[in-house]
Amino acid sequence: MATNGYEGVLKMIEELTTNAGQIQDEVLREILSRNAGTEYLRGFLHGQTEKQLFKKNVPIVTYEHLKPYIDRIANGETSDILLAEPITGFFLSSGTSGGQPKMTPVTSQVTKNCELFRGFYESPVIKHFGDINQAGKRMELMFARPEIETPSGLKAASVSTSIYKESKFRTILPKLYTSPIETIFCPDPNHGLYCQLLFGLIQRDEVVTIGSLFASTVLRGIKFLENHWQELCYDIKTGRLSDWITDSGCRNAASLVMKPNPEQADLIENICNCKSWEGIIRKLWPKARYIGCICTGVMRQYIAELEFYCRGLPLVSAFYACSEAICGINLEPLCKPYDVSYTFLPNMAYFEFLPVENDHDESIDMKKNDEDTELVDLVNVKAGQCYELVVTTCAGLYRYKVGDVLMVSGFYNNAPQFQFVERKNVILSVDQEKTSETDLSKAVTEAKALLDPLGFILTEYTSYVDTSSAPGHYVLFWEIKGKEGKHCKELDPKIMVECCSRMEESLHYTYKIYRKRNIIAALEIRVVKQGSFEALMDYYVSKGTSLSQYKKPSCIKSEEALKILDSRVIGKYFSPKSPL
Ligand code: AMP
Repeated sequence: MATNGYEGVLKMIEELTTNAGQIQDEVLREILSRNAGTEYLRGFLHGQTEKQLFKKNVPIVTYEHLKPYIDRIANGETSDILLAEPITGFFLSSGTSGGQPKMTPVTSQVTKNCELFRGFYESPVIKHFGDINQAGKRMELMFARPEIETPSGLKAASVSTSIYKESKFRTILPKLYTSPIETIFCPDPNHGLYCQLLFGLIQRDEVVTIGSLFASTVLRGIKFLENHWQELCYDIKTGRLSDWITDSGCRNAASLVMKPNPEQADLIENICNCKSWEGIIRKLWPKARYIGCICTGVMRQYIAELEFYCRGLPLVSAFYACSEAICGINLEPLCKPYDVSYTFLPNMAYFEFLPVENDHDESIDMKKNDEDTELVDLVNVKAGQCYELVVTTCAGLYRYKVGDVLMVSGFYNNAPQFQFVERKNVILSVDQEKTSETDLSKAVTEAKALLDPLGFILTEYTSYVDTSSAPGHYVLFWEIKGKEGKHCKELDPKIMVECCSRMEESLHYTYKIYRKRNIIAALEIRVVKQGSFEALMDYYVSKGTSLSQYKKPSCIKSEEALKILDSRVIGKYFSPKSPL
């Protein structure tokens, strides 16, 4: 967006946030007047479009409720069973349902909203950092994922892949970004990443911002650089791409721009060849003004490490959005990454909020039933209160629970601002995959079946995400008991390795895809000695959990609890191969 454009968009944001209540009513009116005749809504509204009736009759649902309609459309039925506007495809979300990625309908209105949204979230950034589009290029790590073709012939792709496919994006790419399109669509993500880093280094004097969609990917890029900088420097020096990059698209793109540049290679080598990589990003890309990537939610776990590498460069989480709906923007891009709030844009969807308990104690879960709780409109939420987000969109989602818990941190004009609290029912996540307690328990059940015939029983388990090395991985703590006097030391290590594999095979689609692409490292089982889980319980009780209410956490979040288990580990086992 040109500089003269961003001020206009900021003005629009003022108007939207000032008239948030009225705009929300208009958005709902428009959605209902268009869609009241669909098979889905007819069942609840009988063709009526009043807000009151909508609130009274239309149920609050999850993906599972809408899935039969979405599956029917994917299998060739007309989309007007769910939404009036014709659909152009589906977005694939990183969440899964029954092991498969969730699909949400895409319409031309959705595509228009996505385009509009880019202007909305970039304007505050341009206001604070200047017009980066005029100043230079973005080194953004981008990876398209394969599309799925549904039986109806409609395509399903992730939101980012859909954006990369658009002709508008392809037109602006060479001017605004350092990565050629071939590296984004490269089927092997490691080849793509190597080349994107190479192009980013070759053009380092032009780079004004560095980023990716999520913090985990930026960190993955830096770690990859730590392992490959010598080779990258050699390529820059000689003007030849390493032989192991066999992807023809990447090789062609490289051949167009690479020429021997020993001076640049020496400079980069000197920077990388130092003991500490603290502040390396600043040194390698001296004109970078900020790092753009989402650092909130599950990405918080990466802030400290990212700050180490970028020393002083601001980390900017510009927006909050999901495949199902576009939600909010960060109006204060310079605020600390831990304090980011997103101001909701009332024109993007109709938003409602389900109040939830503010206390997210990891060992006690006493949440209320949804049916007992009334939904609150966007403009009526209360500061300090936590809510689960419910959206109604132009693309066939009606009172749909996104699964995110948010806390109101304040208001901008009349639009509330939210901090991301957590993903509901997600206990493990290294990147964008979402593993629930049920997913984990299913995988453990599959794996422990290997122990039973050998005379061993899995008596307790818990988990955590280990991000101390990159990429991060899932760790399971298992306490195993031998039947008939057997000691768990007698257990064949091969069986434990097999248990790790079995768990990975039993986890959901997104996990397996990420594992295959090395975004997640091998799953690990740490066998702990007898009594370890008792010691864990003693710890929680000593911290104030009532013994009668104690429920073993499925996922460990506190450092101290982790130490208790780690100090009792008697064997560590890793999955030997990717499950796909
Ligand atoms: P997907 O369904 O794959 O599009 O992923 C969307 C989900 O990613 C959201 O529902 C959130 O759980 C998470 N997410 C997206 N943006 C943010 C953000 N700014 N902060 C925290 N989590 C986010």
